[in-house]
Amino acid sequence: MNPGIYIHVPFCTSKCAYCDFYSVTNLTSVSEYIKQLCREIDLYSETHQPQQAFDTIYLGGGTPSVLDSENISIIINKIKENFPVNQDSEITLEVNPGTVDLEKLKSFKSIGINRLSIGIQSFSDRDLKLLGRIHTVEEAEKSYQLSRQAGFEDIGIDLIYAIPKQDLKDWKMSLNKAIKLKPEHISAYNLTIEKGTPFFRLQESGHLELHEEKVEEEFFNLTHDFLTNHGYYHYEISNFAKSEKCISKHNCKYWHHVPYLGFGPSSHSFWNNTRWANVSSVEQYNSLLSRNQRPLDFEEILKFEDVLFEYIFLNLRTYQGIFFESFQNKFGFNFVNKYEKIINPLLLENLAILEEQSFKLTQKGMTISDSILPAFSNAQL
Ligand code: SF4
Repeated sequence: MNPGIYIHVPFCTSKCAYCDFYSVTNLTSVSEYIKQLCREIDLYSETHQPQQAFDTIYLGGGTPSVLDSENISIIINKIKENFPVNQDSEITLEVNPGTVDLEKLKSFKSIGINRLSIGIQSFSDRDLKLLGRIHTVEEAEKSYQLSRQAGFEDIGIDLIYAIPKQDLKDWKMSLNKAIKLKPEHISAYNLTIEKGTPFFRLQESGHLELHEEKVEEEFFNLTHDFLTNHGYYHYEISNFAKSEKCISKHNCKYWHHVPYLGFGPSSHSFWNNTRWANVSSVEQYNSLLSRNQRPLDFEEILKFEDVLFEYIFLNLRTYQGIFFESFQNKFGFNFVNKYEKIINPLLLENLAILEEQSFKLTQKGMTISDSILPAFSNAQL
């Protein structure tokens, strides 16, 4: 697989109550951020040229759609000037409903964005309000329709389940509305409570009633059954595609341990078995780059066992699982022989399947993957 590029756009109109992605709501530093982002791309192009051309660019955040198309075009052109990028690359922009109109969407299309990921999150206004989203269901649907009208043929929507007060019936209604829109891709995430968020504080003070693990598993299984029954291919624990062609090429790089470069505050990179992250502060980011310094928060060379466990962990979250040949080529030993003691009980309990060329979790195994996967990291090497 070719490497990918991630751009973190750290601006949002307002902060959602559950979100711990780095972003600020003050947009006054946008132009300085664009300037320093271009500088960061220049800086890395001197030292991090890929062996194969990049074939995905993903603009995430934050809310990249708060930027105008001129600024996004500056970013994309800067990448293309500095790095080899395949002509037919997947170029994704995350869109927040309420930040776009038809004209803006058309201009995104005209500068080469060919895939949108729209953060709809729920088709219930009660859920959206609780989550602190800036839009209503009607506005979210409108943004989706306008995206089609603007000519986008590859649209993904993001949804969240196991929201407080949401029951399985509500979630089924959301899924039903989602498939009516016929998106090429659906990401459905279990709500998680992250430290430092308003939801975390509410939970700590006993003001947020979350679902029990058992109920979350029911949400997960309903999602799988409903979407696969409606023709979606479940290819990663939280991701569904209308067909193989509609799989997010960029996100697959994370799951298959393919190198990627991240630019922008708080972005992560994985390159030559080294992982680093940028500082989570626009001011610090701008200031370090203005002095031609890498805006690093941390950098670590991954040990063999870290790479190995990450590889197993990420691949077993995909429905393709682990291919023995790729595993052997990458790590130099046989997966089944090495992990026999972990694999056999999983097979007996119908939590995993062993095929001629691969090993993967079953739907039952996926449901409790969080409790299965750590066993691989504890295994003796
Ligand atoms: S969920 Fe998205 S829109 Fe909401 S604060 Fe986080 S990054 Fe911004």
